[in-house]
Amino acid sequence: MSKTSGRTSGAARLRTGLRLAAVIAGGLALASCSFLDWGFMGGGSKAPSPSVDPAPTRSVFSLPRVGFPGLGRGGRGGMMSASERQCRAALRRRGVQFTDLAPIRDSAACGIDHPVRISTLASGVAIKPAATLNCQTALAAAEWLQKDVGPAARKRYLTGIAEVNNMSSYSCRRIRGSSRWSEHSKGNALDIGSFTLKNGHVITVSRQSILAMRARGFLHAARVGACDEFTTVLGPGSDADHADHFHFDLRQRRSGYRHCD
Ligand SMILES: [Zn+2]
Repeated sequence: MSKTSGRTSGAARLRTGLRLAAVIAGGLALASCSFLDWGFMGGGSKAPSPSVDPAPTRSVFSLPRVGFPGLGRGGRGGMMSASERQCRAALRRRGVQFTDLAPIRDSAACGIDHPVRISTLASGVAIKPAATLNCQTALAAAEWLQKDVGPAARKRYLTGIAEVNNMSSYSCRRIRGSSRWSEHSKGNALDIGSFTLKNGHVITVSRQSILAMRARGFLHAARVGACDEFTTVLGPGSDADHADHFHFDLRQRRSGYRHCD
């Protein structure tokens, strides 16, 4: 009797223990969701500031990425798509430091659903000032820097790139002399004005003298390489508006045409 009573009592304690464990586990799961919500969902319904980049809502290194399907920040663009999440994973693999920004909606023509602000294009290569772009354009810029610009500098100057000068990234504007909105108005374009090498030498994007063979070769390699990553490439010689910078964008044309000038 006492043995049976002892087993019964043990089983009862076990059931009580399991119920307690379930309650604790449920509580932890709720706490965990709340924690993740702050990190990934917080900026979803906030109205964007009309002309100033919204404050970063999350540092790339501040929270772990958890592979929950559909988890992402909301906003006018809705939940972050799989391609947006994959793009951020690719940025991390390339050593790009970035923060996710709240959705930018300046007008019907201007804005980015899931903007990023990038401060580097590779480990140890700054982009200054930091650029606000859509993720695909940020990734294209990082790939261009790492596949084309870095090797071109090492080949011709025997050193790497320390800094890239961002002349314009997201900007709500029309193309000069046109009624069409610039790709900048969608965070789909980036303007580069100069490169600073690790030895401090600065190469400006401009028409170089015939004697400046190294700079000419470097800028040519950077420009030609950009055609692999972007769908529009403009620079000195294209027109008067691009005499002092490269313009790169990811404009989608129905024909699939890439404009590399
Ligand atoms: Zn531009």
